[in-house]
Amino acid sequence: MSKLFKRTKILATIGPATNSAELIESAIMAGVNGCRLNCSHGSDEERHQQIEWIRAAAAKKGRSVAILQDLQGPKIRLGMLQNNHLDVRAGDELILESDPSYEHDGSFTVPIQYNLASKVKPGEPLSIFDGKIHAIVLEVVSPTAIRIKIENDGFLMSKKGLNFPDTDFGGDILTDKDLADIAAGAEEDYDYVSLSFVQSASDIEKLRQILLAHGSTSRVIAKIETKKAISSYENLEAIVKASDGIMVARGDMAVEAGAEVVPIIQRKLIALCRAHGKLCIVATQMLSSMVDSPEPTRAEVSDVATAVIQGADTVMLSDETANGSYPIEAIKAMKKVILYTQNNSQITPINKPIEHATIYDAISNSAARLAEDIDADVIICQTASGATAYAIAAARPNLPIVSVTSNPRVANQLALIYANSAFVRPYSPEFGYDLAVELKESGYLKTKEGVKDLIAVIVSGDNDKSGTDTIRVRNI
Ligand code: ATP
Ligand code: MG
Ligand code: MG
Repeated sequence: MSKLFKRTKILATIGPATNSAELIESAIMAGVNGCRLNCSHGSDEERHQQIEWIRAAAAKKGRSVAILQDLQGPKIRLGMLQNNHLDVRAGDELILESDPSYEHDGSFTVPIQYNLASKVKPGEPLSIFDGKIHAIVLEVVSPTAIRIKIENDGFLMSKKGLNFPDTDFGGDILTDKDLADIAAGAEEDYDYVSLSFVQSASDIEKLRQILLAHGSTSRVIAKIETKKAISSYENLEAIVKASDGIMVARGDMAVEAGAEVVPIIQRKLIALCRAHGKLCIVATQMLSSMVDSPEPTRAEVSDVATAVIQGADTVMLSDETANGSYPIEAIKAMKKVILYTQNNSQITPINKPIEHATIYDAISNSAARLAEDIDADVIICQTASGATAYAIAAARPNLPIVSVTSNPRVANQLALIYANSAFVRPYSPEFGYDLAVELKESGYLKTKEGVKDLIAVIVSGDNDKSGTDTIRVRNI
């Protein structure tokens, strides 16, 4: 297998710019390993259709593609504005009205999807539209409405988000909309479910219980974007441990906590995820200018390269693929940066004091180091739940990992994991050399140009007896 294989993965948000079977297939062929469907936008019917398109394209191309359902969480959004647009000026006073039956006059009363009247206090700051508009709460004017004062000139658009960094929303973050989205999602084929605006590990534990009650086998991702989540290292670590992975949701994080904190939190989170063997996704504005331009800026290229060098599993595209004019170009640009960076730079080492390292963590780590030492072509691992694949990936080997699993759900989930690709076949305890030959003969493993042999490090075990317990080196 070629080492040109992309080890850092790409997650692309699907939206109007990618909303067809053809565009989704092009996106996958351009390098997308996972698709994010955002419950904040679109309908259940649209998402159902998109899932069908993604599964069909993945099957046609013989690839595993992860699908992530993104839950809105307690994100507060404007409702629909007349003509989708409202100009505002510093000093304007607006009423934010949450009663949907209220007759809006179109100008200075603005519909909002959340009742803030019992939550906010006069004097608290807020921002709207990803921090573009700053405002301050003046007063609660009715049981369903508040008055705010705008502090800078600009404009608002329908459904844009509001942030109240200093407002206490009190504990329970799953909204009625989230519960409905979880129920609808449980009927679908999602590999991951992410929750926005997570504050503590208990938010994730609660989501996990609800998913289990629905019979969902999705893995759970915490989006890190609130001031509360990042308030201490201990809280961040507790969230990482409670989740299967995290997303560094840099857009809202910058609005809530200040843009200057984001790079430091990103580094801490990637290191935490690597130490705990969890999936880490870096998201938002990675190639933002490509919404309107066919080329990324130097700063954006550097941002993607930095995430790769820090060892993120996955980098994400948001507006670029959901809403932009150059969705496929953005994917290709991202892939190019990933490949160049991984082939010309080492991944930053982390101090990795694995807590309670298990035997199989140690085996996985050793397999990765051994494979690098002997310049192997591939690590092949046998994995039922994906745990062994996560553990090997946590060591960030600079070569591909082929995970052999009998479970197609696990294969799709592994599509977002560092260096992983999956091969689905029925489980066999006599795993090892024969399967490596099978992978080579099936054409799944390719040797380098002009080279006949392929060196594989094989990590296996007997599911029923010992678990992962064997590392073999084979020349196939
Ligand atoms: P988040 O804070 O969770 O990132 P977002 O509002 O920024 O949410 P993204 O999913 O990042 O949304 O997508 C970027 C933009 O693309 C959205 O603001 C929206 O305008 C558009 N978009 C995304 N998905 C859809 C969709 N299914 N239908 C319509 N527009 C969409
Ligand atoms: Mg967000
Ligand atoms: Mg976004």
